[in-house]
Amino acid sequence: MRFDYTDKQLAWRDELRTFLDREVSDELLEEIRHGGSDVRGPLVTRFRKAVGDRGWYGLNWPVEYGGLGLTAVEQQMLIDEFTARGVPGPDLTATSVAPMIMRHGTEANKADWLPGIARGEITCAVGYSEPDAGTDVASLSTRAELDGDEWVINGAKIWNSIAHIATHEWLCVRTDPAAPKHKGISVIMVPIDSPGIEIQPLVAWSDLRTNLTYFADVRVPARNLIGEVNRGWSYITGALDLERGALASAMQLRVILDDLMAFCSTHLLDGVRLADRAEVRHRLAALDADVEVARLLNLESASLIEDGQVPTIPATEAKIFQSELRQRVADWGTQLLGMYGQLDWHDREAPLRGRIERLYREAPLMRFGAGANEVLRDVIAQRGQGLPRHDR
Ligand SMILES: Cc1cc2nc3c(=O)[nH]c(=O)nc-3n(C[C@H](O)[C@H](O)[C@H](O)COP(=O)(O)OP(=O)(O)OC[C@H]3O[C@@H](n4cnc5c(N)ncnc54)[C@H](O)[C@@H]3O)c2cc1C
Repeated sequence: MRFDYTDKQLAWRDELRTFLDREVSDELLEEIRHGGSDVRGPLVTRFRKAVGDRGWYGLNWPVEYGGLGLTAVEQQMLIDEFTARGVPGPDLTATSVAPMIMRHGTEANKADWLPGIARGEITCAVGYSEPDAGTDVASLSTRAELDGDEWVINGAKIWNSIAHIATHEWLCVRTDPAAPKHKGISVIMVPIDSPGIEIQPLVAWSDLRTNLTYFADVRVPARNLIGEVNRGWSYITGALDLERGALASAMQLRVILDDLMAFCSTHLLDGVRLADRAEVRHRLAALDADVEVARLLNLESASLIEDGQVPTIPATEAKIFQSELRQRVADWGTQLLGMYGQLDWHDREAPLRGRIERLYREAPLMRFGAGANEVLRDVIAQRGQGLPRHDR
C-alpha cells in the first residue's frame, strides 16, 4: 500500500502554492514575526481577505452552507501549505466551531453564522476555560439566564485566546445549575462588542496573548443559542475533537527539522561538522521518522472526517504524539545549538532566526491545550480500547 495524494489533490496543492507565491511578501512575514498570530495588522488583514474571497475558510463545507464542497484532506493540505510559509490559515472558528453549527445548529444558527465564517469575517474566541474550570471544564460556572427573548450572561473566562481581535465568543455557559454538571451546559454566540464585556490581557510564556474576559449582565438575542438548550456538552466535546486534529499540523515541525538538518550540514563543532557526528545523525533520523508519523496520523484523521466520521481516537493520538514530539524537537534543537540556541528572533546571532527558541517556549502549551495529555490517554484507554473507567 502506498500513501499518496491523488492527481486532483496535487493540482490543489499547486493552486495553493501559486496563491502563496503571489500573496506572501517579506513585509507580510515581517508583520507576523513582530506581532505573532494574536495581532492582526493591515497586511495580515489583507491576506485573510484574499483567502476569504476564495471561500477557503469553508472549503470543505457543503455548498449549501457557503462552502466549496472540497474535503477535509484538502483542508489539511491548505493548513500544511500555509504553515510551511508561516502565514495564518483557517482558525478554530472554521475548523471546529463551524462544523458543530452545521451538525447541531438550528436553521437560524446556520443562516446567522456560517456565511460570515466562510468569508473569514466572523472569528470566534473559544470560551471554555474559567479560573476554576480548566481540565474539568464541565465545572464551568459562567451563567446564562433567559429573560424574555434575551440571554443574560454573567461570569468570566480565562486563557481566552484571540478575544481581543475576534468578532464573537463561542461561549460555554451554565443554563441549568440544578442538572448534573455535564447536562446543564449550553453554547451561545456572543458578539464581542456587546455592552458588559471587559477584556484584559494575559500573556503566556510563549508571548502568545490570551485574555481574561469578564461578562457582566451581557444581553444577547435568544436565537444566538446554538442548537438546543442544555445540550452544549456534546457540542463542546465534538468541537474539541476537531480542535485536536486541527492543532496537530506536523508541517511546522517538518520545516524546523529540515532547517536544523541544513544547519548541521554546514556548522562545525570542535572542527567536526555536526552532521558527521553519529549522535547527531541518529537523533535527526529518529526525529525525521517521528515527524513523518505525525503527518500520517494527521492525514488519517482528515480522511476519517472526509468519510463523515468524528475521528475522536486518531485525532487524540495525533495530538498527544505531536505535542510530545514538539517538545522533543525543541529540547534537542536547543541542546544542539548550544548557548546560541537561547537567543530569540530579535537577536541577529540567533540561529535559525530564533525558531527553536520560540518552539521551546510554545511547546508546553500543546501538551495541555485542547485537553491535557494525561486525560487524553484516559480517553484512548476508555473510548478507544474499552478499558474500564478509572475512578480516582
Ligand atoms: C496560551 C494558552 C492559550 C489558551 N487558549 C484557550 C482558549 O482559547 N480557550 C479556552 O477555553 N482555554 C484556553 N486555554 C486553557 C487551556 O485549555 C487550559 O489551560 C487547559 O485546559 C488546562 O486547564 P488548567 O490550566 O486549569 O490546568 P489544570 O486543570 O489545573 O491541570 C493542570 C495539569 O494537571 C494535570 N491534570 C489535571 N486534571 C487531571 C486528570 N483528571 N488526570 C490526570 N492529570 C490531570 C495535567 O497534567 C494538567 O496539565 C489556553 C491556555 C494557554 C496557556
